[in-house]
Parts: sequence; C-alpha cells; structure tokens
Amino acid sequence: MSEFPAGTLMDGKRGLIMGVANKNSIAWAIAQQLAAQGAELAFTFQGDKLERRVRPLAESVGSDFLLDCDVTDDDQMEATFKALEDRWGRIDFLVHAIAFAGKDQLDGSFVDQTTRDGFKSALDISAYSFVDAARRGSAIMNDGGAMVTLTYLGSERVVPNYNVMGVAKAALEASTRYIAADLGPRGIRVNAISAGPIKTLAAAGIGSGRHMFRFNKAASAMQDNTDPKGVAGAALYLLSDLGLSCTGEVHHVDGGFHMIGMPQEAPLRASLEE
Ligand code: NAP
Repeated sequence: MSEFPAGTLMDGKRGLIMGVANKNSIAWAIAQQLAAQGAELAFTFQGDKLERRVRPLAESVGSDFLLDCDVTDDDQMEATFKALEDRWGRIDFLVHAIAFAGKDQLDGSFVDQTTRDGFKSALDISAYSFVDAARRGSAIMNDGGAMVTLTYLGSERVVPNYNVMGVAKAALEASTRYIAADLGPRGIRVNAISAGPIKTLAAAGIGSGRHMFRFNKAASAMQDNTDPKGVAGAALYLLSDLGLSCTGEVHHVDGGFHMIGMPQEAPLRASLEE
C-alpha cells in the first residue's frame, strides 16, 4: 500500500522520470506519487550499478521501461527519447531531477574554488540538460503536457558551500521561464520546484550538510525539514490538470524557509547549540 494519496489524476498519462538514484531520491518520491494517481512511467538511470538499484524500484510501480542515459552524452539522449517514441509514440510529462558538481566545488570559497571545468560541468549537467530534455521531450509531447525540474534556494541567496551549484540553479530557473514561454502556445506547462534540503546522495555532496539541515529546521516557518512527500504533491499538482494555467513558476516547498527575514531566536539558539 503506497504512502502517497491514490487517485485518478494521472490516469492515461505517460511520462519520463529522470534522476532516480535510489529510494531516497526526490525523483523517486515524485514517481511514487504519480504512479499512485495512475501514471505510466519510464525511468532513466546512469550505468549498470544504478540499474541494479533503479530496476526494482521501477518494477514496484509497475514499470519495466528503463533507459540508460548520461545527460552529457548526446547519443544517449537521442536514444532515450527515440525509445520513448518507439514504444509510446507520445508522452504527457517529464520530470527532470538531475544535478551534479564536483565535491571540490562544493566546499569553501566560491571565488577561490570554482574552476572553469567545474563551472562548465555543473552548468552542463544541472541546467543545460533540462533545456536539452525539454527540446527532445516536447517534440514527442502531447499538447497540454507538463514538465517539472528541481531547484534550490541557493540560486536566489548565498548558501555556504552550495557555490557553483547556486549559479547552475539560477541558470536552470531562468531556463525554465524561457522554455515555458516557448512551449506555452502548445499548452505545455514548464515549472520548477524549489525544495528545501532533503537527505539524498546529491545533498550528501555539499559541505556542512549537517549544519544546513539543523539551520533549515530551526529557521523555517514550520520549524521542520522538508518532507519529500510535499515535493511529490507539488509535482503532482504541476504535472496534472490541477496545475492548468500555471507555468514558468518557481514554487517553493521548503516549510516557508525562503520567506523568513529573521528566524525566531529560541529554536535557532537551540539548533546552534546542538
Ligand atoms: P539524487 O538522488 O542524488 O539524484 C540526483 C540524480 O542526478 C541522480 O540520479 C544522479 O545520477 C543524476 N545525475 C547526475 N549526473 C548525471 C548525468 N550526467 N546524467 C544523468 N543523471 C545524472 O539527489 P536528489 O537530491 O534527489 O536530487 C534531485 C534534484 O533535486 C537535483 O536537481 C537536486 O539539485 C535537486 N534538489 C535537491 C535538494 C536536496 O536537498 N536533496 C533540494 C533542492 C533541490 P548518478 O547518481 O548516477 O550521478
């Protein structure tokens, strides 16, 4: 029995989930929520090691449609969207939950640590890959389809050690708006979810992660860390017809952390003393 609300909001809809690495991945929470509402899913993974982890997860939501895809490899991107077209003809939605920056880029001073190669690869994998997937995905997407990508507040504000990934997320959010404008006339909606910190493999790569979770918990309006189920619920809204007329948006799901100007003293003091 799924812990995600069941229903029929995604009945008859098919789509691609990019970015499940394991059961803690944000993309996996989204996939479970979409499946519980009737969606048919395909998944990308990167390499044999991840296939071993992703296949049983996919099977648990009734999918045998797995595609090996490194987003920096044009041939693999081509093959991924060709396989979707060959098997399904058209798709209705796309979830992009992919980001990467070298560990050496995510610790210490942004201005000193960021290398040309580190900058290029973070922007390529974390921002350009959405542009590329959106172009290829929209070519086989039914009019009225929807896309969602995952971003973080480090695009808007300085978060220690998030560094070049913040720059990549700013590019991703701007790309979301440009893609939304291009695809709007076809009724295709394109949005980003700005999630608060969640314990995943990607989050583990960021220096001072422990402090980030404690601080977010203490300083958010809800005084709690972000529940991936809330992110999955937002994705369901944005990818289903519930989200009609909503496009080009960056929707925060972070317990209200983004809108606090000054945190309450007591929880903050307690968290810093922990
Ligand atoms: P995750 O489980 O580690 O997922 C990241 C995914 O990106 C993995 O499946 C990873 O595959 C994939 N990826 C990296 N480089 C790739 C490449 N070249 N080609 C194809 N796939 C590649 O972590 P997550 O936290 O769920 O991250 C999903 C998205 O949410 C990311 O965009 C992240 O920035 C965003 N986000 C996360 C948080 C958070 O606190 N966790 C908050 C806000 C936004 P490999 O493992 O094979 O590299």
